[in-house]
Amino acid sequence: MSIDFDTIVNLAKKRGFVFQSSEIYGGLRSAYDYGPLGVELLRNVKEQWWHSMVRMREDVVGIDSAIIQAPSVWEASGHLASFTDPLVECTNCNNRFRQDKLETLDQCPSCGKRDTFTEAKNFNLMFKTHMGPVESPDNAVYLRPETAQGIFINFENVRRTSRMRLPFGIAQIGKSFRNEITPGQFVFRTREFEQMEMEFFCRPEEADEWFNYWIDERKRWYVDLGMKEENVRFREHDADELSHYSAGTFDVDYRFPWGFDELEGIANRTDFDLKAHMERSGKDLTYFDQESGERFVPYVIEPAAGATRTTFAFLLDAYDEEEVRGDTRTVLRLDKRLAPLKVAVLPLSKKPELVEVTTALAADLRPLWPIEHDITQAIGRRYRRQDEIGTPYCITVDFDTLEDHAVTVRDRDTMAQDRVAMDQVATYLRERLG
Ligand code: ATP
Repeated sequence: MSIDFDTIVNLAKKRGFVFQSSEIYGGLRSAYDYGPLGVELLRNVKEQWWHSMVRMREDVVGIDSAIIQAPSVWEASGHLASFTDPLVECTNCNNRFRQDKLETLDQCPSCGKRDTFTEAKNFNLMFKTHMGPVESPDNAVYLRPETAQGIFINFENVRRTSRMRLPFGIAQIGKSFRNEITPGQFVFRTREFEQMEMEFFCRPEEADEWFNYWIDERKRWYVDLGMKEENVRFREHDADELSHYSAGTFDVDYRFPWGFDELEGIANRTDFDLKAHMERSGKDLTYFDQESGERFVPYVIEPAAGATRTTFAFLLDAYDEEEVRGDTRTVLRLDKRLAPLKVAVLPLSKKPELVEVTTALAADLRPLWPIEHDITQAIGRRYRRQDEIGTPYCITVDFDTLEDHAVTVRDRDTMAQDRVAMDQVATYLRERLG
């Protein structure tokens, strides 16, 4: 089903996925905090990425580099000179916009006046601050606008210590910061966000092959985690859209409520970054191929995804409503690996003899999966809450349980209920949850 933007934003707030940051102070625009369910979902998205990109591969290792790096890094990478967006300002209402995101330059989308825009000027997106107690140009530093450079500057460290041979990749998940001109659309575009990036180093002549390989691999990842194929699209960048370092880029786009928009960019960064760091640092970042006796600078294929943006897309994609006996049921059909909670343990009523059983059952299951033990409200409302947050299984303890030592396990998607012996519950769930 297609879902409107407000519905999912409201659900995210109401159920504790995402809160406006600094809400008690009126909120800080474009900053968000992840609540108890949101943090689990975000962690699961990152965990799945790490699992497929690092753990399951012989040819990729991970790192976690500093957010604040030497300013020379950003000089060499070209970010200081050209990590800019074209900024225009409306001379009537003083609102600022990214020129390339405006539908027309004839009319301001905010105040509606015509012909009020200033000439575009290049606005650098990096956040600048100072290191140490003195604020002077000499100690200016930047918050990283991408995790990728932390990988390039560690290329030789990682190659040497992990004894990696080409082709191989280095992956990283972490926060990045961009002083976006027009943040918005909830967590789609924020000034602080998380990225999941992998730099795959290879021989220059093999770069095209690996480029195509990673396009296929990345598509497989989204679809394997349940994203509907019709909502994912690959789009090749036109020559005038390419970043300063790229010889080719494919965007993975998702069908957001406002149309297709980027989730991930897969780029052939050539040898641009390693060469730039070689020149600026004077360090040798070439690779010596022992078999052929050649020395060269590797090419790099980069799948660069946004963790926070992707989490939002999974949330949208999972949202469903269906009619059940004259009522509308809202259900998040999240893949079980992504669901924030895997199991809810529910006594049919608050009666102490039932709660005693659910307390013990919850204690048994808690080390195995993220669970919730919920004893409040009528059972129907508790099922609805679990459906809305995407919990795959609800276990209900009723009065029969006291006699037959069995519980009811309800499946989120089909609402089918199985009666399962208490001592078989963990096995039953393990078969389904993994
Ligand atoms: P856009 O065109 O949307 O500004 P980009 O092409 O500059 O993005 P990249 O530099 O390729 O983005 O970054 C890789 C990924 O990081 C993006 O595909 C996106 O998922 C994520 N990302 C980039 N900027 C933001 C942001 N401001 N907020 C949330 N996620 C972001």
